[in-house]
Amino acid sequence: MITIEKAKELIQKQQVNITSKSLAVKEALDYVLSENIYAVMDLPPFPQSAVDGYAVCFDDVKEVNTFLPVRNEAAAGNTQYLTLERGTGIRIFTGAPIPENANAVVMQEKTQTTDEGIIIREFPLREEQNIRPIGDEIKKGEILLPKGLKLNPASIAVLLSQGILSVKVSEKPTIGILVTGTELVQPGDELKHGQIYESNSAAIENALKKFSYHVQNVLKADDNYTLLVKTLRTLFESNEIVIVSGGISVGDYDFTGRAFKELGVEEIFYKVNQKPGKPVFFGKRGNTFVFGLPGNPAAALVCLYQYVIPLLAKIEGQNDCPFPIVYATSEEAIHVKDSRGHFLKAFLKKGRVCLLGKQGSHMLQTFATSNALIYLPAGKNEVKKGEIVEVHLV
Ligand code: AMP
Ligand code: MG
Repeated sequence: MITIEKAKELIQKQQVNITSKSLAVKEALDYVLSENIYAVMDLPPFPQSAVDGYAVCFDDVKEVNTFLPVRNEAAAGNTQYLTLERGTGIRIFTGAPIPENANAVVMQEKTQTTDEGIIIREFPLREEQNIRPIGDEIKKGEILLPKGLKLNPASIAVLLSQGILSVKVSEKPTIGILVTGTELVQPGDELKHGQIYESNSAAIENALKKFSYHVQNVLKADDNYTLLVKTLRTLFESNEIVIVSGGISVGDYDFTGRAFKELGVEEIFYKVNQKPGKPVFFGKRGNTFVFGLPGNPAAALVCLYQYVIPLLAKIEGQNDCPFPIVYATSEEAIHVKDSRGHFLKAFLKKGRVCLLGKQGSHMLQTFATSNALIYLPAGKNEVKKGEIVEVHLV
């Protein structure tokens, strides 16, 4: 059995082939950039008014209540070059180009209009006030977005604001899931005594979806060695990531480990000193990464978040940890009996984290109402009320 830290280190140590493709920016949400993107132009591309008001020359406003006649108008989208006549003002709106000769904009709220012009109530003015200079946000040639960034809605918009229509991103790995268990019945079908509804595939598939990964195949096998080997072989043919749920423990009907061996899966780790999810398996077969997740639903999800998602992020060349880790105040004292590392279902709100009840690895309901996991390292059996704990936002 290895520590959680060691398991994470082994995940990060894997050699991965990052393959990239060109993608239309509009389709690229949640993809990871496989190259630095440089600004192709200054933003803003011309000096811009930041407010609605009047463009003036700073030197023309020498005292409070200066009167200036207003001669012209510059609206956003005005493509003409306007020139300010000294001693006058130009009506201007947010986003409009600053006229030649103007070097300050007075906010509308700080003026009083008369029939012929404006009285400026603001004094003194500051040179360049309310003007966004050329390249204020980004200058041509600077890094606009770095390699390894997972694109969010603002990233898409920032690329389009530069007129960039396609980018190089990492391919998403192909993923196949196999759920094992003779007791499992498709939800909606009739349940006989001793049977339960199969729910892990939905948990795994949806958790992956939440992190932007698409599952290509979901297969099911009874606890039958020959069938398991056959089904796994099919998954290996067309997936770079194979995730098996269940059958990885030591029971007589737990065939997952044996099937991995039979198919030549090389073990990287098996069993982690954690609760839930001790009997988790990670291995490799050629270029395919293989996970054996415990069948207990909460354990399967914890292992997915802690080990599978970080590997997928690495395969995509993502710079940052795929989910935020924060430190928060525990709302109550926590006591755990076992000295293994713990991932506890919890709810985080405004820097305070509340432990939820029913922490069993087979118990999913509290996971369903949680928004975080409290992480207690191995050996940390007690947390005092008000103590700071590590929280994973998954
Ligand atoms: P296993 O790891 O196969 O020993 O399964 C551990 C527990 O999780 C057993 O109670 C199983 O019935 C349950 N379980 C396994 N797979 C699933 C699944 N796909 N959906 C719901 N429960 C499952
Ligand atoms: Mg089973």
